[in-house]
Amino acid sequence: MAETDNTTDDHAGLSLGELQRRVHDLGILKDFAETMLGHRGDIGDALWEVTQQAISRLGLEDCVIYVMDEERGDLVQAAAFGPKNPKHREILNPIRIALGHGIVGSVAVSGQVELIEDTRLDARYIQDDQRRLSELVVPIVNGGRVVGVIDSEHSVKGFFTTWHRDIFLSVAAMVSGRMAAVSVAEKRRRLITHDALTALLNRSECLRRIQERLDAEDVGFALIFLDLDHFGVFNDTLGHVAGDELLRALAQRIQEVTPDDAITGRFGGDEFVVAVNGDLAVGGRVAADIVLAIDKQIDADAPSNVRVTCSAGVAMAENGDSAMELIHRADLAMYQAKSGGRNRVSLHDATLAAARRREQRLMVELERALESDDPSIEILFQPIYDVPHRTPVACEALARWNHPQLGAIAPAEFVGIAERTGKIHALGRHLLRRSLLGRKTWQSSANAFMLNINVSPLQLRHEDFVADLVGVLAEFGVQPDQVACEITETALLADDDRTKAAVQGLVSHGLRLVLDDFGTGYASLATLTRYPFVGVKIDQRFVRDLAANAQARAIVRSVVGLANDLALGCTAEGVEQELDFTALRELGCPMAQGQWLCEPLSAEQLRRLLCG
Ligand code: C2E
Ligand code: MG
Ligand code: MG
Repeated sequence: MAETDNTTDDHAGLSLGELQRRVHDLGILKDFAETMLGHRGDIGDALWEVTQQAISRLGLEDCVIYVMDEERGDLVQAAAFGPKNPKHREILNPIRIALGHGIVGSVAVSGQVELIEDTRLDARYIQDDQRRLSELVVPIVNGGRVVGVIDSEHSVKGFFTTWHRDIFLSVAAMVSGRMAAVSVAEKRRRLITHDALTALLNRSECLRRIQERLDAEDVGFALIFLDLDHFGVFNDTLGHVAGDELLRALAQRIQEVTPDDAITGRFGGDEFVVAVNGDLAVGGRVAADIVLAIDKQIDADAPSNVRVTCSAGVAMAENGDSAMELIHRADLAMYQAKSGGRNRVSLHDATLAAARRREQRLMVELERALESDDPSIEILFQPIYDVPHRTPVACEALARWNHPQLGAIAPAEFVGIAERTGKIHALGRHLLRRSLLGRKTWQSSANAFMLNINVSPLQLRHEDFVADLVGVLAEFGVQPDQVACEITETALLADDDRTKAAVQGLVSHGLRLVLDDFGTGYASLATLTRYPFVGVKIDQRFVRDLAANAQARAIVRSVVGLANDLALGCTAEGVEQELDFTALRELGCPMAQGQWLCEPLSAEQLRRLLCG
């Protein structure tokens, strides 16, 4: 790099003057390098300083850096110094140059340096305020592509030399390196904040941004929590690759219908959150748009051409909320949308808030009651009758919670709470002991009287379940074959190894297995043969109004026939009137249970019934 081209590559052959010039050049390059590296935060600042430095160190009149705008496909002015731009670092209307236009535009296309001695002889020269006589244009190249251009014009003809050119080329290389590093850093930052599959914000970034909004003065926004309906089934049937593609397509649809200023992210596997400015009604409208957009049929050629729906819950941000609290309220509303039939929106309103408060109270009190072996959680026994003779042959243990303030609480409610809080194992043990305690009261009066207990799906999956159950039976001196476990279809749907092992364990210890609520779940008749059941219970919705409903009669008739063929016991649940009982007798159903026959009884009441 020298003003005159009389250098040799031989070190020893350099004159003193030449060496001094080289040291001087290196000093200039070192300053440019320091500028490019010095502005860690913002490459824009570095570019400004480079243009300024070009003037002060190289004696230029102006210097402009253009960068390629990939989206628009042209060059845009990023930094400029000189009389044309007297206002420091402020370009109100950045100049844009089309590719191929003027000398700058042609360098962007050719990637070749242009050193113009006399611009009057170059037809490409475009004059703006005044003609300059010479010009130097150097491309900024990265990975073989032009990513920008450095341009300088001068009023003196033939001003620019190869020395200027070489310095510019070095500076262009530095700018290029810095631009590449910035785009790598940008990509890395996106990896930390965005979900790789859908390109939406990821869970932690969602939480961070929602918390930021909650911490702001004005918390006027609603949070939408979305969960795809039965996504697990799609994943299992289509495979995970297609499942991923489906998620990507759905994420895009969500984004299409949400306002630009919304915080939209993927919260978990098939869960999404959207925070929208406005009140609950606005949130509800956006949620409804999303639910509708998801339900719309996807492009017929895509492998994800399946009908997918989602359920949404919306909650309003409140002062003092944490991001998780707010999301939890929206999640609760989402569950309401699921239980309301899916593919819909539910708002977190006052009733839901009250339900939430009740659940929280019951959670705490249930835990306390279990710890103190509280007798307010007790067991009633409902007799099961032999239909032809109308005599009690067994009974089902049904849990009751007589809450001192809230009154009787149905097992469906508190068993569900125990399942959600992980207390189901403790509750199950408590209820089993209560059942066996009660059994002592009536058992001597009816020796071969079976006791049915209900086992929840989650109980079955607890690794100590079978050992604990067998242990408590031994403690009470009860033969395992005197007890039947009622298991619902949903418990077996998971068909996982734990459940299977528990079921086998129960049977190997001699306990009986009964399929409860038959007809309410998705279990096929094949379930009956896959597990070693001794009986099935027909769900009460087929028994209610049996006499008047021909369809229900057809179902009961076929279940009774099937049970007969498979040598299984069969009990009809929920017999509420004599007519239905008569219909059951006519259909040949061997056993029945229900209010019309007998309400659930205390242990003492059952003893009297059996003695009487
Ligand atoms: P399930 O096992 O199907 O129990 C039969 C339900 O039908 C009981 O409701 C019973 O009281 C009710 N029932 C009896 N006769 C009639 C009738 O004539 N008409 C109507 N409509 N209903 C009748 P309950 O006691 O409220 O129990 C509800 C569910 O809670 C049970 O359904 C069972 O799944 C669960 N559950 C009850 N006790 C326990 C328990 O100790 N442990 C576990 N894990 N679950 C329990
Ligand atoms: Mg039952
Ligand atoms: Mg049942």
